[in-house]
Amino acid sequence: MKFSSVCLALFAATSADAFRPLSASPRRAATVLQQSSSTEERALSKKEERLRMMKSPQFYRQGFKEVREGVEKSMEEQFKGEIVQQLRESNYIMERDGVKVYLAKDFGFCWGVERSIALAYEAVEHYPGKTVHITNELIHNPEVNEKLEDMNVQFIEKLDDGKKNFDTVKEGDVVILPAFGASFEEMDRFDKMNVEVVDTTCPWVSKVWNSVDKHQKAGMTSVIHGKYAHEETVATTSFCEDYICVKDMKEAEMLSNYILNGGDKEAFMKHFEKGVSKGFDPDVMLKKIGLANQTTMYKKETRAIGQLLQKTMMKKFGPAEIKNHYMEFDTICDATQERQDAVVELVDIAKADGLDFILVVGGWDSSNTAHLLEIPHHAGIRSFHIDRAECIGADNTITHRTVTGEIVTEKFIEDLSKDVVMGVTSGASTPDKAVQDSLSSIFLLKKINGENK
Ligand code: SF4
Repeated sequence: MKFSSVCLALFAATSADAFRPLSASPRRAATVLQQSSSTEERALSKKEERLRMMKSPQFYRQGFKEVREGVEKSMEEQFKGEIVQQLRESNYIMERDGVKVYLAKDFGFCWGVERSIALAYEAVEHYPGKTVHITNELIHNPEVNEKLEDMNVQFIEKLDDGKKNFDTVKEGDVVILPAFGASFEEMDRFDKMNVEVVDTTCPWVSKVWNSVDKHQKAGMTSVIHGKYAHEETVATTSFCEDYICVKDMKEAEMLSNYILNGGDKEAFMKHFEKGVSKGFDPDVMLKKIGLANQTTMYKKETRAIGQLLQKTMMKKFGPAEIKNHYMEFDTICDATQERQDAVVELVDIAKADGLDFILVVGGWDSSNTAHLLEIPHHAGIRSFHIDRAECIGADNTITHRTVTGEIVTEKFIEDLSKDVVMGVTSGASTPDKAVQDSLSSIFLLKKINGENK
């Protein structure tokens, strides 16, 4: 686990591509006016404005080298898991205390999360005397956020109406932007204040922002496959002009149906009211659409939605016109795909060898972890999403989050007198330590039961 130079090099290459300025002039409303070389004033697009903010001497994206070594050591100590390492070294299979464990081949921290944590920790070390704030959870993992609280990082308060209380941020303070980014409005606010900004946004997220900018330049409305209230989608929509969010195939079908057949506009808008841009008019704004996504959605669903929307626009405008009416980029990040593919493998093992259950470890708010659960759930395999080892009770209960988002407690291992065969994986924001602690709890539960027999 290292925030290594390889990671930095990859980041540099990705970010350079993601933020390459585009030459065409913006289509619609823009934020600021700029003096062009011909002395005519022209508006900057949101992307150009974002690039301008990022060039500020008070905006940091590369971390702080002088504290890097210490931060790497402390991350190793906090997050590594010896049992997980042993599993890796033994071809992802282990037997202990009557429990056989299959570990998914890809699991746990992705490089974007490691990079984000490293940047945040480095910021705290680099500014020892300053008040350091963060606009949101850094990543969706309770233990990592608790560590930041222990380091005295101030989480900007969320108010009941969904807005945030920025009054605590004062001149000279430091503000960390989390892995899933910050909205255009937040970036603009900090740009206008005398604060140091440490941006830990994952470059994969910036890549999506780049896609929606391309939609705007082509005069298209962005259709975002994502949850409208998720922090990443909130940030992405803030970089759009016209947009509509669809959370799943059912909503994509509603959209497709409206494009093809029209219908009850009021009912359509009522359904999507929280996930559309201001002044959205489905009769005007669905003639040209581009697909983007929250980086951590279920990949198969994003692909299926893309195919549906492409077919819809072909049917509506004819195959020869499709390029003028539909645009799509693959912006599901590799880490998400790899972790989902590895769970599919676990499901295959479960079907062939009979796993008693699959355990998915990760924050309950973590979208990518929740999608990992959907794979075994839809395959009919007993599966549990827990956010920490303490969810496994000594009384053989498990408190877990279901695919519908409920938190329930139920009996865990069905027959403790028999050997257990299980699969385990973890989300991209989950430290190995959380997996290790969960496995240790299961080994102990089984061992104690065996001794009591
Ligand atoms: S899951 Fe993907 S988008 Fe999210 S932080 Fe990791 S690499 Fe970045």
